[in-house]
Amino acid sequence: MELNDHASRLHAVLSASSSARWLACPPSAQLCAVLPDTVTDYALEGTCAHELAEYKVQKLLGNPASNPTENLDFYDAEMEDCTDSYAQYIAELLATLQEPMVLVEQRLDFSRYVPSGFGTGDCVIVADDVLTVIDFKYGKGVAVSADHNSQMMLYALGALELFDALYDIAEVRMVIFQPRIQNLSECTLPLSELLHWAETELKPKAALAARGEGAFSAGEHCRFCKGKATCRKRAEYNLQLAKYDFAMPDKLTDTEIETILATADQLTAWVADVKEYALRQALSGKQWHGYKVVAGKSNRKYTNPAAVAAAVQAYGKNPYKEPELLGVTAMEQLLGRTQFEALLGSLTEKPQGKPTLVPYSDKRPAWSNAQEDFNE
Ligand code: SF4
Repeated sequence: MELNDHASRLHAVLSASSSARWLACPPSAQLCAVLPDTVTDYALEGTCAHELAEYKVQKLLGNPASNPTENLDFYDAEMEDCTDSYAQYIAELLATLQEPMVLVEQRLDFSRYVPSGFGTGDCVIVADDVLTVIDFKYGKGVAVSADHNSQMMLYALGALELFDALYDIAEVRMVIFQPRIQNLSECTLPLSELLHWAETELKPKAALAARGEGAFSAGEHCRFCKGKATCRKRAEYNLQLAKYDFAMPDKLTDTEIETILATADQLTAWVADVKEYALRQALSGKQWHGYKVVAGKSNRKYTNPAAVAAAVQAYGKNPYKEPELLGVTAMEQLLGRTQFEALLGSLTEKPQGKPTLVPYSDKRPAWSNAQEDFNE
């Protein structure tokens, strides 16, 4: 393999965005490297949003930039609003700083710690003795926390390579701006803590991961692993629950139920991953002993709504309900988020969702009257 090929392969294997996984389970890096990638619409949508966000921040800074909107396949009112609020957040932050130095979409090289490691920082700002790294996230599935977030710490290390010699940096501030779910997460670390982590934790783990060595270790991070459906370590980890040695008497104790709750979500996720993998394989021709693929349940739908309406009207009946309002999401897309808030904010409510039992670490406030509502 050419040296450059080797370097770019390592770069992909030891990416900042997958660092939480390979730090927890170093051999997963090389395992994932040989499995195919899937490009999802979510990822493409995120790329479009980043392009627009970059344009808006460049414009804010007075730098030359051309508007990419007409080339963005996933552009819509929500993307316009979210990128506006990102640029506004940066404008407001800059207004509080003395002579800030700002870099946008900056390549950040952290190969001092991670072989061939580099990434792209959405926005890096240095002012006084604080280095700020901001990451714009367009996903809305999971709120991402900046607290000791390894991806952000890698970006911060890369940014330090650029600025450490020029500025007397004492603190690193990491910010995740995730506008679609109103998540603004920040974490500030003393520079000494970041460097200590880089030398004692990051560097040795990255070296192991690059060589495909280290111990397999299963946990939360497995959901981002391409090998998650067939990994033996993950199976062993999850089967611990099935192997749970239930003690007499017949009824489970509170402690036993708590033990099951603690692992149930991961067990469910693992089973779902294995089932999805088995289905994909079956659809590609694999025969699983004792199993076949069938069509699942589906709801009837009209093939030609206009012809349906005409036929029912000809029969003398009205096929329409009263004209209905657009749903909240469709209405927000119609008006744009800002206008939606201004016009309909006071006319919209978010009813409390169904009671759900989650780990204590979950950020949502505790349900106050769970018993009553559950009974209802
Ligand atoms: S599934 Fe989990 S334990 Fe298995 S290789 Fe991936 S990260 Fe490691």
